[in-house]
Amino acid sequence: MNHPASYQGRRVVVLGLARSGVSVAKVFHQLGAEVVVNDKKDRELCPEADELTALGISVLCGYHPDDLLTEDTALLVKNPGIPYTAPPIQRAEELGVEIITEVEAAYWLSPAPIIGITGSNGKTTTTTWIGEILSSAGLKPIVAGNIGRPLCEAALEAAPDQWIVAELSSFQLKGTNAFRPHIALLLNIAETHLDYHGDMDDYVNSKAKLFDNQTEEDVAVINWDDPECRALSEFLIAQLLPFSLYERLEAGIYIEPPYVRDTVDSQEHEAALNRQIVFRQTDGTEFVILPVNELGIPGRHNAANALAAIAACITAGASLEQLIEPLQQFRGVEHRLEFVREVNGVKYYNDSKATNPVATTMSVRSLTAPIVLVAGGLDRGSDYMELVPLFRERLKGLVALGETREKLSRIAELAGLAKVEIVEPNEDAESVLQQAVKQAAAIAEPGDIVLLSPACASWDMFASYEQRGRIFKDSAHTL
Ligand code: ADP
Repeated sequence: MNHPASYQGRRVVVLGLARSGVSVAKVFHQLGAEVVVNDKKDRELCPEADELTALGISVLCGYHPDDLLTEDTALLVKNPGIPYTAPPIQRAEELGVEIITEVEAAYWLSPAPIIGITGSNGKTTTTTWIGEILSSAGLKPIVAGNIGRPLCEAALEAAPDQWIVAELSSFQLKGTNAFRPHIALLLNIAETHLDYHGDMDDYVNSKAKLFDNQTEEDVAVINWDDPECRALSEFLIAQLLPFSLYERLEAGIYIEPPYVRDTVDSQEHEAALNRQIVFRQTDGTEFVILPVNELGIPGRHNAANALAAIAACITAGASLEQLIEPLQQFRGVEHRLEFVREVNGVKYYNDSKATNPVATTMSVRSLTAPIVLVAGGLDRGSDYMELVPLFRERLKGLVALGETREKLSRIAELAGLAKVEIVEPNEDAESVLQQAVKQAAAIAEPGDIVLLSPACASWDMFASYEQRGRIFKDSAHTL
C-alpha cells in the first residue's frame, strides 16, 4: 500500500454511487473502515445500492444528510463529476477532511506500476492503443479508469509485474494527492470543461497533478507541439520524453520529415512523402519505427496519439519490433471517426465523441473529401469563432442541431457556406437527429462525406455521446 494511513474502524464517506463509487466503497469496507455511501439521486435510481447494503455498507440516497461529514470522518471519496461547490464537499473542506477521487485510492492499493494518460482529446484512443501494444508484447496490461472499468478494481486485481494503463480525466486528477504514475502522458490541453473548473488555470493545474509526485525514476511523456504542455515541462522532476509531429527532437519520438503546421495533407502528398516515425535516444541514436501511413487509423491527431503510445510502450519495456504489428492492426474505438457506411457514393462517419471544437477540427482535417458536417449540442458558453477558417476551407455544408445550433450556423454563415440548415428541437431527440442526417444526405453529392462530429457534449438532447452516435449510425443505415 502506497499510503501510510490505516482506515480500520474509521469513518469513510463515499459521495456518488456510480461504478467507481461502488468499487471504492467495497475496498474501504474490506480495509475495515466504517463506510457510508451517499448519493443525491433517489434510491430507485441507485440500483447499485442493494449490493452494498447486502455487504453491510450503509447507503443513503435521495439527499445529503447534514451530519454526513463529522469531525471524526477520516476520508471523503468523491465521484469525479460532483463539483467542489456541493455542500458535503464544502463541509469536508471546513472540517479539514482529506478529499480524494477513486483514482487516488487505486494508487494507494496498486502493487503494479501505473501508466497515467490524460489530455483534453485522444485519451481513450491512446489508452486503448497502449493496452493493445503492451498486451501483444506480453506485458499483461490492465486497462481501466475513465475508459470504463474502475481503477480500484484494476488495482485489486493487479500483480506487481503488470502495468495498470489508466485513462485519467481532469476531474479525477483534481482529487489526487499522492498519486504517482511511473509513466505519465499529457496528450494536449484545449479549452474545455470550464463550466466545472471555473477557469483555465484550475483545469491546467488539475492536469499537471499527474506529474506532481513523480521522481527522477519516472517518465513524463509530453506533447512538444502544444505550448501549454511544453510550459508544464519546465516544472518536471521526472525524465522528459517529448513527442512531436512538427519538430525533429534532440531526443524523443517524432516524424521524419515533420508535418508542416496548419496544412492539410492530401492522401497523395502523404504517400509521396512517406513520413516515418522515428525514436531518437538522448545519446543521438535513431531508430525508424514505421511509416505514418501504415498506422491502423487515419489522421494527424491519431499520428500524435501513436507517438505518445510508442513513447509509453518503449518506456514500459516493449521492444521496437513488438510495436509494429499493433500499431498497424489497431482499428480505433467506436464513435471516434468511425466509418458507418457508403450510400449513393456518400460516406458516413460517426465521430460523436468529438465533444469540443478541437476534436472536431482534428477529425475534419483527417478527411480529404468535401464534408457535410452535422454538429451542435450542449452550450457550454464557447463562441466557436475558432471554427470559422476550418468551416471555410473544409466544409461543403452544415446541419446544426441542439442548444448551439444558432451559434454554429452563424459561424457557418461567417465562413461563407452556401448550405446551412438548422434542425429545430422537439421532444423527440431521436427524430431531430434523424432529420439532421436526412438533410445532410440531401446536401451531399457522390464523393462527399457526411460527418457527425458535434464539437459539443450530448447532454442537451441525449443521455450520452454513445447514444447520439448509435442514433446517427441507425439513421445512416436506414437512408
Ligand atoms: P478522449 O478520451 O480524450 O475524449 P478520444 O480518444 O475518445 O479522446 O477521442 C475523441 C475525439 O477527439 C476523436 O473523435 C477525435 O476527433 C479527437 N481526437 C483524438 N485524438 C486527438 C488528439 N491527439 N488531438 C486532438 N483531437 C483528438
